[in-house]
Amino acid sequence: MFKEIHPIPAFADNYIWAISDQASDAVCVVDPGDATPVVEYLAQNKLTLTDILITHHHPDHTGGLGELKAKFSPQVYGPQPSNIAGISTHVHEGDCVELFGHRLSVIEVPGHTLDHVAFYCDEPDPPVLFCGDTLFAAGCGRLFEGTPEVMHESLAKLAALQTTTAVYCTHEYTMANLKFAIAADPYNKTLLSRISEEQEKRASGLPTLPSSVQLELETNPFLRCNQSALQQSAESQLGRTASDEIKVFTALRNWKDNF
Ligand SMILES: [Zn+2]
Repeated sequence: MFKEIHPIPAFADNYIWAISDQASDAVCVVDPGDATPVVEYLAQNKLTLTDILITHHHPDHTGGLGELKAKFSPQVYGPQPSNIAGISTHVHEGDCVELFGHRLSVIEVPGHTLDHVAFYCDEPDPPVLFCGDTLFAAGCGRLFEGTPEVMHESLAKLAALQTTTAVYCTHEYTMANLKFAIAADPYNKTLLSRISEEQEKRASGLPTLPSSVQLELETNPFLRCNQSALQQSAESQLGRTASDEIKVFTALRNWKDNF
């Protein structure tokens, strides 16, 4: 069983999620871009690093792997296509990773990168999702390698998970994402109240994460491309009709890239 899921801050706005075991001093970290804050966290809390989950190949998600492997010899689970150095078990869609008595299923979510995977577990209450740079609170990752079609399909897989799922993304991008979200979806009342709630958390120095699938369905413009308000915003950006969800998604993503 998981005891706690704790954010270890890294770089300017990354979180390295540390999942600790209820029954032992074992801990798993997700996307350790930097070894130093992980080593400090382990020492301060007298924990042993036994496992690492990697969502994709970007250096701010993998940079600490070499040092952590050398120091602690953990099992490292991650995607195959990019051949990330240090992965001991390559995972694919539908695979299961055993972690502290729970089974995490692997979901392939290409788009931000082509190798991107997410890890999902529906055994705790609420279920948990580690989605790297695919789904963010009120946003989604930039399309460095995939097409809008591919990313839209990946996001749809995550949006279809249990609505109570706690969403652990890798970056604290929430306030910037919300600024865009309200520009794209200006009459969304849930979005307005979310903005003041998240502002309060940031003002108190708290992370805005985890989010939840339900909150994202209600406030994340990239999960709401089927809503007429988002379609209208996309069309006013494009200056022409956006006849399907992919066109709306593409217009929103391009707009956000230059926002
Ligand atoms: Zn990335």
